[in-house]
Amino acid sequence: MRADLIFEAARYVVVCDDASTVLADASVAVSNGRIVAVGPAEQLRLEVAADEVIDARGHLIIPGLINLHTHLPMTLLRGVAENVDLQGFLEIVWAEEARVMDPAGVELGARLGAVEALLGGTTTALDMYFHPSAAHRGAVAAGLRHVIGPVFFSFPGPDGLSWEQRMDLARRWPQEVAEIGGPYVPIAYMPHAPFTVEIEHLAQIAELARETNGIITTHTSENDSENQATIASRGMRPVRCLATSGVLELSPILAHGVRLDVDDRRNVAGAGASVAHCPGSNLKLASGAADIVSYRSDGIRVGLGTDGCSSSNDLDMFAVMRLAANLARLVHQDPAAICAADIVRMATLEGARSLGMADRLGSIEVGKEADLAVLDTRAPHLTPLHDPHTALVFAAGRSDVRYVMVAGALVVRDRQSVLIDVPELLAQANARVGS
Ligand SMILES: [Zn+2]
Repeated sequence: MRADLIFEAARYVVVCDDASTVLADASVAVSNGRIVAVGPAEQLRLEVAADEVIDARGHLIIPGLINLHTHLPMTLLRGVAENVDLQGFLEIVWAEEARVMDPAGVELGARLGAVEALLGGTTTALDMYFHPSAAHRGAVAAGLRHVIGPVFFSFPGPDGLSWEQRMDLARRWPQEVAEIGGPYVPIAYMPHAPFTVEIEHLAQIAELARETNGIITTHTSENDSENQATIASRGMRPVRCLATSGVLELSPILAHGVRLDVDDRRNVAGAGASVAHCPGSNLKLASGAADIVSYRSDGIRVGLGTDGCSSSNDLDMFAVMRLAANLARLVHQDPAAICAADIVRMATLEGARSLGMADRLGSIEVGKEADLAVLDTRAPHLTPLHDPHTALVFAAGRSDVRYVMVAGALVVRDRQSVLIDVPELLAQANARVGS
């Protein structure tokens, strides 16, 4: 068999299937953007002739991490709103966005965020931000698989659009995504939250998503005050708003979901919706601890996200995995509440399932798209390495990532971005915010 590239003789390949398969001394071959062979190094050496061979001895290969909730352009606002809760945070950030975030700022911030994500082993991000075309152009330029879509508020919001203008943009969105190009992503629509989008507007978004087979993501029950604000303005809890408007039955991805009551959980699980758990942001803003162990036993799918850089303050999915594991154990006062393999699967396969992309992404299996991260384990903090899942969650970090591939293209090689001149990008970011 011929292949474009083979990662040869990795110390471990962490497959991230439902059986938590780990292969030792294994190779992964890639051709035309897809994984064409995974198996024992010795066997693949005989069976595969590759144009490029990357020596993966001493390395650990994982599926590219899937960040299920972020706001990439907010890299430009890192550190501007500190020591405030969600409501205080939004006040400061929305004012700062009006100052910095025109389309050029959004494109630059998304490019910076995409480079940060990729260098840390994240290959797919579900990103929510206004000026989505600009953000998409910026992220795709760095090589990220970037899922974004029009954002909806029932008021003018930071981009100042009327409802009709938002709907016009949304109707044009599938065409825009196709024109910008980049790795395959689903069409997505992004109502900001039930407290900022009226129920009849949510219903219009659901209608559009149904017509275009699109996915929906929205902030939901991030903290108690958000629930109270929603009850005050809509007369019901956020999940009820989603159910009433027809959004919930489309299996949306609910960002945060920190404060879901029993009724919410039953509805979320019944609809096959997902929670994008963002422990870094939830801890920092003191929003609360989403009880993901109970959610999972209720039948709710849980993926992981960083949230935006002004609330969390980076795009480090390794940090998120570790926080998610430790927080779940603390909440349940049980060190066995959740295992490392489940956490790694949340950051990969469960994220892919949430996006409706599990046939293409989320595990290292023949036929899937080649979205991979390769970590160098030849370091004191990863030696000895008894169990790869445990090492990934509790000891590894994003600086261990050496190669990253998206849809078969190497976008990080030897810890360097292949497509972006990073020093130039950093200079542009500093110039933009005047620092
Ligand atoms: Zn968010």
